[in-house]
Amino acid sequence: MPLVSFVDQLNRARREGWGIPLFDIFERLGTDGIYLAAEAKNAPTIVGVYGGLFDRPGGKEFCSYFVKRCQTSTVPMSVYLDHGDSFERCIQALHLGFTDVMYDGSQLPMDENIATTKMVVRAAHAVGAGVEAELGHVGRGSDYESFGSRREGFTKPEDVERFIEETGVDFLAIAIGSAHGQYKGTPELDYELLAEISSRVDIPLVMHGGSGLSDEQFQTAISKGITKVNIFTDLAMAAGANLIEAARSESPNLMVMANAVREGFRVRCEHYLDLFGATDKA
Ligand SMILES: [Zn+2]
Repeated sequence: MPLVSFVDQLNRARREGWGIPLFDIFERLGTDGIYLAAEAKNAPTIVGVYGGLFDRPGGKEFCSYFVKRCQTSTVPMSVYLDHGDSFERCIQALHLGFTDVMYDGSQLPMDENIATTKMVVRAAHAVGAGVEAELGHVGRGSDYESFGSRREGFTKPEDVERFIEETGVDFLAIAIGSAHGQYKGTPELDYELLAEISSRVDIPLVMHGGSGLSDEQFQTAISKGITKVNIFTDLAMAAGANLIEAARSESPNLMVMANAVREGFRVRCEHYLDLFGATDKA
C-alpha cells in the first residue's frame, strides 16, 4: 500500500469517535510484532520513530527500512517522526519518506514554539505530510509525583486556538496529566480540561505517555476528544517480561528470544487496537 499522510485517517477517527495508536519502535523484531497486530486486526496503525535514532550508526538506513516495510503493508500505515527536536530533524524525516512529523517545541516559550512549528508545517505541507506539535509539556513518569499533582506543564485552553490558527498544525499533543515512561505515583487525567480543549478545536488531539494508564482511562480520554495515543514503554516492558520467561525456558536460544520480543509487541498492540476501536477500520 502506498504511504500517505495520516491526516485523513486521524480526521476520520476523530469524526467517528475512535482512536489510532502510535507504536514507537527502534528495531526489527518489535516492528514485526506491530505489523502482525495491525494486519491481524485490519487496523490503520502508526509506526513512530524517535528522532534520536537518525544519529546512531546505521540509523538513517534503518529508517529507510521502516518506510519500505510500511509500503508492503496490507493496511494503512504511517511512518511518523516522534518528538522531532528541530526544523532540520523534521526535514530529514520527510526526506527519508516519513508520512508525518511531530515537531516538539513544548519546552520553548510559546512564540518560539509557534515560529518553528509554522516553518515545519509550511515545509511538510509542500510534500503532502501532516504535522503534530505539542502545547503545554508532557513530562516524565519518573517525576510524576512532583509535577502531576501540581498540574505543571498542563496545556492552557486559552492558548490553543491561537496556536492552531497561527501554525496551521494538523494534530495537537496536549498535556492533561499523562507522562512519558513508567509512572511513579498514580496517573490522573484531567478530563474536564480535555473536554474544554476539545470543544475549542477541530483537529485531532494527541495524548503522549499512554503506558501505565488503565483501559478505562484510555477509553474515557478517547470519548472526550483524544484521537491519537502514543505508546512505547508498555510494549517494551511486555517484550522484556517475555524475554525473562524465554531465558528460563529449557532451550533459551536466539530464535526463542526473538519470538519473545515479537510476541510481546504483537499481543499488546492487538490489545490497544481493540481497546481504541481501530480494529476493522482499515
Ligand atoms: Zn511522547
